[in-house]
Amino acid sequence: MDTYMAKDLPFPESPVVPEMVDGSKNIQFRCRQGIACWNACCSNIDISLTPYDILRLKRRLGLASAQFLQQYAVPYELEKDGIAGIKLKPVSGGSACQFMTPEGCSVYEDRPTACRYYPVALLSMRKQDEYTDTHSYALVKEEHCLGHNEPRSLSIDDYRAEQGLTEYDEQGRGWRQLVLKKMSSGPTVGKPSVKSRQLFFMTCYDLDTFRAFVDSGPFNELYDVPPVERQAMMGDTLQAEQALLQFGYRFLRQVLFGEETIPLHKEAAEKRRAQAREKAFAAEREAAEKLAREEDPRDEGFDD
Ligand code: SF4
Ligand code: SF4
Repeated sequence: MDTYMAKDLPFPESPVVPEMVDGSKNIQFRCRQGIACWNACCSNIDISLTPYDILRLKRRLGLASAQFLQQYAVPYELEKDGIAGIKLKPVSGGSACQFMTPEGCSVYEDRPTACRYYPVALLSMRKQDEYTDTHSYALVKEEHCLGHNEPRSLSIDDYRAEQGLTEYDEQGRGWRQLVLKKMSSGPTVGKPSVKSRQLFFMTCYDLDTFRAFVDSGPFNELYDVPPVERQAMMGDTLQAEQALLQFGYRFLRQVLFGEETIPLHKEAAEKRRAQAREKAFAAEREAAEKLAREEDPRDEGFDD
């Protein structure tokens, strides 16, 4: 069970039906308690979590985001040596979801995006250096899932609405766009630094730590967040955490791609730029000195 991005386009052995369709396409499907395959899909999971999935689940469980990550998540590489993704951690020593019960999903109202989409696969694509992504869908037909034999037909758009995906997609869009932009920016942009990978991880997946970061002195010395905006995102209501997450996406676009939408305190920004210039200059000087040492003829035994 998973949502698919452009890079995961179906291949011959895949259970994904190799036909890309739009939201008006009708599917025949129903999942219901009592069906012979009940819980089969939740017994063998491979579920990627969006930042909004984590937000909803940690609230549901009354956990801080760091605790949630520790107990219920495993990181994986979204791209080689690049930014991280998060998957649901199955039960210890098994492949079943920790939230599966005989009656079904114990966190149903807050279940992740991938669980809501199933058996539809979301194919998200974007052109290089554009933020606007386009969506199409595909159908996932796995042998064990008998929901495809149920006599109910509805459009993918209606299925998405039924599964509460409008809100989930809206809240996950900023993250999906960042990931797609990072993936399609290719080798010209290079490997992200350790620091930018850490910032990405904290901002997207560890929201409580990100809130403390936004509340910290060093952050506020540099960023000039308007008080009304700050107030709207610093509480612990769902609305405030949604606002904080959206602010986080903007923050990452600014830090990773230089898209400045969060105002900076002029003096602090200038001081930072001067420090960055000095650091770059020092690095250049060090490299030049190293090169000079390497090319020094005395090293080759030509001096007298
Ligand atoms: S979160 Fe719920 S729906 Fe999703 S795999 Fe786990 S038990 Fe199944
Ligand atoms: S019908 Fe499909 S989605 Fe529903 S319980 Fe069975 S395997 Fe899972």
